[in-house]
Amino acid sequence: MYTVKAYAATSATSPLAPLSIPRRDPLKHDVQIDILFCGVCHSDIHHVRDEFGSAMPTIFPIVPGHEIVGRVTSIGADVTKHNIGDIVAVGCLVDAESTCPHCRVNREQYSPTKVLTYNSPDKHGTAPATYGGYAESIVVDERFVLRVPGNLDLAGVAPLVCAGITAYSPIRRWGVTKGQKVGIVGLGGLGHMGVKFARSLGAHVVLFTTSPRKREDALRIGAHEVVVSRNPDEMAAHVNTFDFILDTVSAPHDLNEYLALLHPEGNLTLVGASAEKIDVSAYSLIFGGRSLSGSLIGGIAETQEMLDFCGEHNIVSDVEVIGMQDINEAYQRLEKGDVKYRFSIDMSTLKNT
Ligand code: NAP
Ligand code: ZN
Repeated sequence: MYTVKAYAATSATSPLAPLSIPRRDPLKHDVQIDILFCGVCHSDIHHVRDEFGSAMPTIFPIVPGHEIVGRVTSIGADVTKHNIGDIVAVGCLVDAESTCPHCRVNREQYSPTKVLTYNSPDKHGTAPATYGGYAESIVVDERFVLRVPGNLDLAGVAPLVCAGITAYSPIRRWGVTKGQKVGIVGLGGLGHMGVKFARSLGAHVVLFTTSPRKREDALRIGAHEVVVSRNPDEMAAHVNTFDFILDTVSAPHDLNEYLALLHPEGNLTLVGASAEKIDVSAYSLIFGGRSLSGSLIGGIAETQEMLDFCGEHNIVSDVEVIGMQDINEAYQRLEKGDVKYRFSIDMSTLKNT
């Protein structure tokens, strides 16, 4: 075991502050990674504030961060996928039993045996819970360590392994392709990646926002059209026209308004994780045979496919790079929707805090 500096919250109302945490020494299948950048996901805030409640209670202290990019500094004796010096990424998952039926079909995210990067019981017993990427380094089983294409800016790569894959996976699953009309709801971390992926696959992309000031950015990022969702006339113009809608909103809102925009047999996939119950009218689904589904990040093979796709298409997240000392202010700004469009922490700043 060794000790690293990290940033942690000790209660749902505490600011994040420096804390020394233990990491295991690399085992034979482990990769030890010096963290270079870590993205700031809205889920980090939900967890730190214990907003998922009994569904996913937070174990304190919590070290958030599941959008990790770093350099390999050490490998276990049996590691074959990675070498010392490689630039790699770690997303929301750090373990799962490979014999589980979900893992066998590359859907580790739905495995009851999955271990999340933070706030999961630590099966190695190094600490009461796994600790995430707001830290100097991390040790992860090689199966959950991803290769990073060499042509991409690393600050913008970090968010790909949560925000990116969470948008990419349902977009691929529902077969988004050239000529389709696709809606993305919310221009935040997930939403701006959804716009980029849907556009790069050839769809006609409409971005729904509550923030009229984001219109120009949405068009620059790749949307063909922008709809201010609080304007009923703008919404009405799109009734019955969408093949697919990806909803990334982090707060309660009316899904029936969006279901009405799908054409018959269209799908709305929810990835935004508001803890509130959702009120959906049966008629919104039945008339038109529409479907509503959810989606959780993506499996490891699909995450690698997404990173390779980003390498080929030169796609990264639009980031504001911050220092570790700015994290509490960044949380306040993220809660107000004041970020373009993901914070990425330059982890070299941690040592100065
Ligand atoms: P984010 O950057 O804060 O973006 C969320 C966007 O939702 C905002 O930019 C805003 O867009 C819109 N929004 C916020 N409050 C709203 C309200 N009251 N009414 C309508 N729209 C509102 O967050 P994120 O990191 O992209 O995460 C989005 C959600 O996905 C979070 O709940 C997060 O926990 C969840 N998540 C889920 C998964 C998964 O696997 N399913 C993975 C990662 C994150 P506009 O200003 O454009 O309206
Ligand atoms: Zn996330």
